[in-house]
Amino acid sequence: MNDQTTPIKSVPLLINGKFIESQASKLIPVTDPATQNVIANVPCATENEVAETIENGKTAFENWKNVSVGDRARLMLRYQHILKEHHDELGEIVAKETGKNIEDAKGDVWRGIEVVEHACNIASLVMGETVENVARKIDCYSITQPLGVCVGITPFNFPAMIPLWMFPMAIACGNTFILKPSEQDPLTPTRLGELFMEAGAPDGLLQIVHGDKSVVNQLLVHKDTPAISFVGSVAAGEHIYRTGTHHLKRVQALAGAKNHMVVMPDAQKKHVINNLLGSSVGAAGQRCMAISVAVFVGEARNWIPEVRDALAKIRPGVWHDKNAAYGPLISPEAKKRVLRFISEGKKSGAECILDGSECQIDGYPDGNWVGPTMFKSVTTDMSIYKEEIFGPVLVALEAENLEDAIKLVNENPYGNGTSIFTSSGAAARKYQHEIKVGQVGINVPVPVPLPMFSFTGWRKSFYGDQHAYGKQAVKFYTETKTVTARWFEEDIDTGVNTSITLK
Ligand code: NAD
Repeated sequence: MNDQTTPIKSVPLLINGKFIESQASKLIPVTDPATQNVIANVPCATENEVAETIENGKTAFENWKNVSVGDRARLMLRYQHILKEHHDELGEIVAKETGKNIEDAKGDVWRGIEVVEHACNIASLVMGETVENVARKIDCYSITQPLGVCVGITPFNFPAMIPLWMFPMAIACGNTFILKPSEQDPLTPTRLGELFMEAGAPDGLLQIVHGDKSVVNQLLVHKDTPAISFVGSVAAGEHIYRTGTHHLKRVQALAGAKNHMVVMPDAQKKHVINNLLGSSVGAAGQRCMAISVAVFVGEARNWIPEVRDALAKIRPGVWHDKNAAYGPLISPEAKKRVLRFISEGKKSGAECILDGSECQIDGYPDGNWVGPTMFKSVTTDMSIYKEEIFGPVLVALEAENLEDAIKLVNENPYGNGTSIFTSSGAAARKYQHEIKVGQVGINVPVPVPLPMFSFTGWRKSFYGDQHAYGKQAVKFYTETKTVTARWFEEDIDTGVNTSITLK
């Protein structure tokens, strides 16, 4: 219920270094997912406002592209320092607007800070290559140059980490950046923007516009936005990839997931169960790297009742409840969607061995709660297997052997993350080699790589350029120019005869 009396603030846009109130006629309420209290209103920026950010970004780019790589790194060093000072405060903002428990929320901030740390190292990341004497007295070398005004469109589930995947690397490469954060939790990205300005960022380097798909579409088709980074659902990702590339832009779209954990009978049972709990229902299952499918191989199927019993002992709760394993879903619509899947699962013949549909939390009757839920006897034609549920729902399948498990995982439409739990090196090596998925964990449930590696996805989990995130992001946010140079028209007479005749 929303019985508030304090006025609701409108989330400002960050345009050319200033936080301004939008002239928008359309406002979207941002709600606390545990209470439905409106905590802010997010404006859908007007066409003029979006057009203005692009112009500002272009103007700022003319200067920023010539700023020394050392100064660009120094801005990131200051930003990294300020983010660390504000780490706990940012964690609390994340927790309040997403409902995540506080430790999880701080983890979201920390993973973002790691990318900023990586961006501090920009000089060595943008280095080109050189070969002397590719022909006689001709040298060849490559240089990397920024693109211009880059755009980022981010989802609700990591409001700190995912914006920080994008704009620090893009800006460190010499670009300017327009961020369009999720309309469901815009307060964290706004604070990230304030702290970036506090770190000394020149006006127009990072701009933030808010809104829904109409704002995205304007950014997508504009002639002066050469590169688009997107993270979110498959439906939006496909649209953004199609539209952006149709307009001849560079697009990377990280999309949805259905991540499998393959449980071999030689794995350590306790280890498997502990890891399945956090990775399946942690963050209410609203992680693109959540384990949503467990494939029990051979005799490991006998562990299903124990997994169920362990899941039954955990419960969601409000963000500051230290005993709660996870928080509410982001919105009533998200909850409705998860409940629809649970109901479809039951109708399709799967056995619901733990049902969190009726979950209630004392003192928070309006929260978007769903308790841990588990299905067994699931088959690959069921919607609870084929589609991303994005809730605290674990579906269990069984396979006779590793070959069958690998085939199952490779035939799933998604390929974001996966893990295998086993004590056999041979099984782990086979899995690593044969599995067609972007991130692979071996006895690690959620294998999210650090920024010195790439983050990618196969099949429906990733569209476009494979250079997302971290080290490889430099390739996405720059052009390479190869120079072939003959330095002198005439030989310089050094008095030394340098010519040789090859035999
Ligand atoms: P979403 O696709 O609904 O929204 C993401 C962003 O796209 C938001 O900024 C939103 O305003 C915008 N958007 C939504 N629909 C659009 C449309 N039709 N046209 C243009 N823009 C549109 O995603 P979400 O619900 O915020 O996030 C959850 C999804 O993100 C899940 O599917 C999850 O798997 C995925 N995700 C993937 C990764 C990854 O690395 N692969 C990481 C995090 C989240």
